Amino acid sequence: MIKNLVRKDIREFDPYKTNQIPYKIKLDANESPFDLPEKIRKKVVDFFLKGPELNLYPDTESIELRKILASYWKVDYENIVVGTGSDQLIQVIINVFIEKGDKVICPVPSFGMYKINTIIGGGIPVEVHLEREQDFEYDIDLFIETAKKENAKVVFLCTPNNPTGGSIPKAGIEKIAKECPNTVIVVDEAYAEFSKEASVDLISKYDNIIILRTFSKAYGLAGIRCGYSLSGVEMAEEISKVKPPYNISSLSQYIAMLTFKEREIIDKQVEYLIEQREYLIRELKKIDKIHVYPSQANFICFEVPDASLVHKKLEAKGILIRSFGNAPILGNCVRISVGSKEQNDILLKELAECLK
Ligand SMILES: *Cc1c(COP(=O)(O)O)cnc(C)c1O
Repeated sequence: MIKNLVRKDIREFDPYKTNQIPYKIKLDANESPFDLPEKIRKKVVDFFLKGPELNLYPDTESIELRKILASYWKVDYENIVVGTGSDQLIQVIINVFIEKGDKVICPVPSFGMYKINTIIGGGIPVEVHLEREQDFEYDIDLFIETAKKENAKVVFLCTPNNPTGGSIPKAGIEKIAKECPNTVIVVDEAYAEFSKEASVDLISKYDNIIILRTFSKAYGLAGIRCGYSLSGVEMAEEISKVKPPYNISSLSQYIAMLTFKEREIIDKQVEYLIEQREYLIRELKKIDKIHVYPSQANFICFEVPDASLVHKKLEAKGILIRSFGNAPILGNCVRISVGSKEQNDILLKELAECLK
């Protein structure tokens, strides 16, 4: 049987599951409600008709895209590595640094891929809990203490944190990088456009910091699979060594570049979603039986009396949300993405209905 051939630590893995059921409103995956604007779409069509040489491999170094990103962030393009989504970079970073048995600090609750990639890479995930009573804030000193005690090779930080929504003050990130100079500090900023925070200036001061950014959330381009890292040049070179060649298709590179150049459109969408987030938080707080956690992202985490039931009832109405059922620390919490005003109003109405 194949199962007996599979590595012991992989045998019991659950594959990453996504919702494939029919829906009217999809608020379960932190995606943008805005599809690629027509203006940008037309340019993509033009590009396509002019004949990108799809018979040839794409630029494996994504030089043009990196140069555009670099000029925005005021760094050199050599500080940047592009990945097939920031997910790929998480895996690549593990592969660069983790040998069998090495420890990786993973915040919990947070993005599940840190732990999964650590295990696939042969490392040992060490959980540091974010306490619910503290609104899931990162306890910086606890991260430092645990990283030192465990002699951790890598620490993952997620700001704003998925799925809880709070962000980590930059001073805290800097303190960890400073006090753990022999540990790689990965700062996942997948949602930072919505908090207007950025730790990128830390990369010139600390060679052990890697910042991860993505086109999947604020840029509304989850479908093209493109993300990137910002770090010191030495770090970027090591990451590049392990990154698979030709990892970003020509079309994805082009769409990412074009959208990044048309950033004013995206900035307006981000402003809209921030307003909608604040609106949703205000309205959710008015509903009895709901406890809302602070969010600086494009999603909101809140507690209901019975998360699985709320999830089921909304699903029956065609509204998809993420439920954490009885997950550790997140018992009876659900997470919704911030959608368009219309979507949010329907959600609020149906939610109040199912809690009656
Ligand atoms: C969505 C998400 C990512 C993955 O983004 P991709 O670029 O689509 O791979 C990374 N980190 C966090 C915390 C996310 O929520």
